[in-house]
Amino acid sequence: MANRRNFIKTSAFAAVAAVTNIPESKASSPKSKSSVVKPIVVSTWKFGIKANEAAWEILKNKGKALDAVEAGVMVPENSLLERSVGLGGRPDRDGHVTLDACIMDELSNIGAVACLEYIKHPISVARAVMEKTPHVMLVGEGALQFALSQGFPKETGVVEESQNEWKEWLKTSNYKPVVNIENHDTIGMIAMDARGNLSGACTTSGMAYKMHGRVGDSPIIGAGLYVDNEIGASTATGHGEEVIRIAGSHLVVELMRQGRTPEMACKEAVERVVKLMKIRNKDLKDIQVGFIALNKNGEHGAYCVQTGFNYAVHDNEGNRLLDANSHVK
Ligand code: ASP
Repeated sequence: MANRRNFIKTSAFAAVAAVTNIPESKASSPKSKSSVVKPIVVSTWKFGIKANEAAWEILKNKGKALDAVEAGVMVPENSLLERSVGLGGRPDRDGHVTLDACIMDELSNIGAVACLEYIKHPISVARAVMEKTPHVMLVGEGALQFALSQGFPKETGVVEESQNEWKEWLKTSNYKPVVNIENHDTIGMIAMDARGNLSGACTTSGMAYKMHGRVGDSPIIGAGLYVDNEIGASTATGHGEEVIRIAGSHLVVELMRQGRTPEMACKEAVERVVKLMKIRNKDLKDIQVGFIALNKNGEHGAYCVQTGFNYAVHDNEGNRLLDANSHVK
């Protein structure tokens, strides 16, 4: 019986690979329950290492992926030393630190905030939008009013260093995000818990010196983050405009649905970004986009436009930082 079941699984998989023209070595086949890697948490950039530790505390105790990803991304949100996440983030061109975040669980519950000021943990406000309102996204003043009504304290202090850098920037006022120089860099985190359920969270202060009111990909479900509990999850970092243009994280999950491995799915999404840059006659060297992905087997992968993007993975084997492969070598 077990053999027959395996045979059916294998043949079904071979059929998917044939229909979609994916060589079997590059496609993901369903694993038996016992060989699925779980729990597991994957997150963007080096600050993902510390964030993963907080998520792991929850995952290793059989906690929910949703709680793990929220607790995980709260770590960089909480640090005023981070210049690309939370209130320590670089301001917009008018001097306002405006924050974007979203969260998605295994039931496709979603919540997001955009252009939120004065709140330390936008991810928790996003979760409150998800759990306590009939809506999925609140922005600007409305998001702030909602946060305050939920008891989130208003933080009015400024981070001197960040403000001084902005004043320096004002001298030229040249908006030119520098690839991998932490003028941006979002924490996106995706996790599978011991029950095999997936969730994700994404939070950022967005591109440094952006126009006031600019919203990137990070709070947009389908762009900066997507979770499908039957297939996998993905999250993005880098130039949000390019990620939104291809509905990036949703695309990665759909490519995994068609049988791509997590890395192949991220690579194809990156190649689509590259293609559109070319069609639109834009210079690729000015942008970075990176995706990470996790499937239901607990397999993970990543891919980016430029070298220099890394991501952190924590499973039962430990916590480690991996370099993503890139389109530009
Ligand atoms: N994706 C973010 C944004 O466009 C920034 C980043 O991750 O680098 O706001």
